[in-house]
Amino acid sequence: MNRDFKDIPTEYLAKIFDTVRIIDFKNNRVVIENVKNINSSVDKNCYSILCKDSICKNCIASRAYYENETVTKLENSNDKVFLVMATPITDGEEKYILETLKDISSSIIFDDQNLPQKEVLVDHMKRIDELVVKDELTDVYNRRYLNERLDIDIKSSIMNNFELSLVMIDVDYFKKINDRYHHIVGDYVLKEFVNVILNNIRSDYDWIARYGGEEFAIVFRNTDIKEATLYSERIRKAIENHNFKYDNINISVTASFGVSSISEEINNSGLLLQKADEQLYVAKRKGRNRVENA
Ligand code: GH3
Ligand code: MG
Ligand code: MG
Repeated sequence: MNRDFKDIPTEYLAKIFDTVRIIDFKNNRVVIENVKNINSSVDKNCYSILCKDSICKNCIASRAYYENETVTKLENSNDKVFLVMATPITDGEEKYILETLKDISSSIIFDDQNLPQKEVLVDHMKRIDELVVKDELTDVYNRRYLNERLDIDIKSSIMNNFELSLVMIDVDYFKKINDRYHHIVGDYVLKEFVNVILNNIRSDYDWIARYGGEEFAIVFRNTDIKEATLYSERIRKAIENHNFKYDNINISVTASFGVSSISEEINNSGLLLQKADEQLYVAKRKGRNRVENA
């Protein structure tokens, strides 16, 4: 790693790439930016350079920051293919991200005739993008996405003075469902469980991730603890009343919920998850099929 980002020849790198930026990821700030000829009206977001209206699902700056290694991806936008790289660099104690973007639509060469051509490649890229952040069984976001994305949403909420709440949900006595029927029935219950949740959250604001096994996390953006508790109660009832039916088997399903929200003290994903988890265990201890908050 470089000891001083001011030594990095960004002018020179800008001759190779279309955009070279050094990002203070922790504080959501661009330190150095050298942009040429992609989009003259760029602002501070890399996704706007890629002509997207929201942050990429696979934010590689985030992955480079948390995993402390160089991350590369191909990104498709408006029929163009971009090579995007993010590398962690340090300046004293502080960690920054060096981000480079290059439009390779016309310069990419497929040496091997058996390789897919650009259109096919773009389709593959979209699929791979989904695979990396989605849970295979339930098709909601996976734990990796939660780890990478939650802090971004928290930071953005704090900056914009918005509330944000997190709900941890765990299916009650799920092991019994697997043991009594079959794990295939258990799998069906998990998929149907997710559908019930999806029908009860705002698709444009809130998102859900599978935390592991039969445990899920919902991120309610722009939502305080009171509202998140109310929404959780609505989901709890919807699950309790839902007709989970596999072949001719009717299965009773309930779940327990732990709700937490950001505050001056709870201002990162680790603390928010811990608080929600503590409340989930209170809900379990108090008899399950209930919502607890803190
Ligand atoms: P509690 O109310 O305390 O949460 O009890 P529980 O039985 O739900 O919790 P426990 O942790 O004992 O069991 C969870 C079970 O979930 C065990 C594991 O085999 C099952 N499980 C985890 N992932 C999957 C999956 O993808 N499919 C299926 N069918 N079962 C899974
Ligand atoms: Mg459980
Ligand atoms: Mg569990």
